Amino acid sequence: MAKITLNKNNFFNNLDIIAKATKSVDKIAVVLKDNAYGHGLVLMATMAKEYGVKRAVVQTEDEAKEIEDFFDYILALNAIPHAKSDTIRYTINDLNSIVKFPHATKVELKVDTGMHRNGVAMDELEKAFVKIKEQGLILEGVFTHHRSADELSSEWFWQKENFKKVKEKAKILACGFGFGELRFHSSNSASLFRHVEFDEDMARVGIAVYGCMDLPLSISVDGFKPVLSLYANKISSRELQKGEKVGYGGTYTAEENCVVSNYNFGYGDGFLRGSSNNYITPHAKKLVGRISMDNSSFLSDEEEILIFDDAREMAKSAKTISYEVLTSLKPTIKREIV
Ligand SMILES: *Cc1c(COP(=O)(O)O)cnc(C)c1O
Repeated sequence: MAKITLNKNNFFNNLDIIAKATKSVDKIAVVLKDNAYGHGLVLMATMAKEYGVKRAVVQTEDEAKEIEDFFDYILALNAIPHAKSDTIRYTINDLNSIVKFPHATKVELKVDTGMHRNGVAMDELEKAFVKIKEQGLILEGVFTHHRSADELSSEWFWQKENFKKVKEKAKILACGFGFGELRFHSSNSASLFRHVEFDEDMARVGIAVYGCMDLPLSISVDGFKPVLSLYANKISSRELQKGEKVGYGGTYTAEENCVVSNYNFGYGDGFLRGSSNNYITPHAKKLVGRISMDNSSFLSDEEEILIFDDAREMAKSAKTISYEVLTSLKPTIKREIV
């Protein structure tokens, strides 16, 4: 199996850039869902805590429980509570789900300002407050998610305006229903950097902390460094004669006599098969033939090769996004902080 290294300096460098934009470390909520974008949940939580980050965002209650001791605040995006927790805040994604939350659960209400995926509709806001009150929940925050923060268009602006309306209405409702002061947040990585002056209570930052944000040039942000590198070890080597073929289906034909070696990283470990015959490593080793379950072949005879140190490059070869490259990496791969 392959090996993952996590570069702490790069991670802290990325957090420095983000803290400058949020103007306070306390406003950073690191998004650690999906095994911290494939980096390793507990390792990333440990480093985030060391840096001074106090907030995290995950998908499930199981993820939240695993890192409960690392943070003051954990937002679970999609979970119904099974155990009581002072740290975990649960997201209400739908009006009809409110009755499922136990009395006195700390919740945040997600509002649909245009993405039309999760959240109550803007005109359901009052209904949601009524139901939350009836259910005896503790409403702490109201938030939304942008559908196109990473695209150069007017999309981000009209969604921001919608959320502004939501905020104004929610503040009045919170007073009327006797809830405390609410926390408002709408920004993922890309959205955070669209603000000229960030003025929200928190930013939910995922891909930027991992150093793999990909934005159009005119809205791009300099200085981020990828945290994760993936290495694989040689299983075997052979000399190929010109004309011989490699791997399942023989889809690569040697253009000249060469050495090809087989490394222990395949699609069973999270190597996206769409990269087959279409990738060159940072040290110019060419991937040849089809990626198989536990193996991939490169024109190399080195014992260990760096497969990638920037998931965005890997993503191009598989015609996907860095998020998919990273979250595909199996939790069983060994990970270490360097
Ligand atoms: C995944 C997610 C984020 C983080 O998005 P990035 O683009 O990785 O910064 C933020 N908010 C919500 C609701 C998410 O689902």
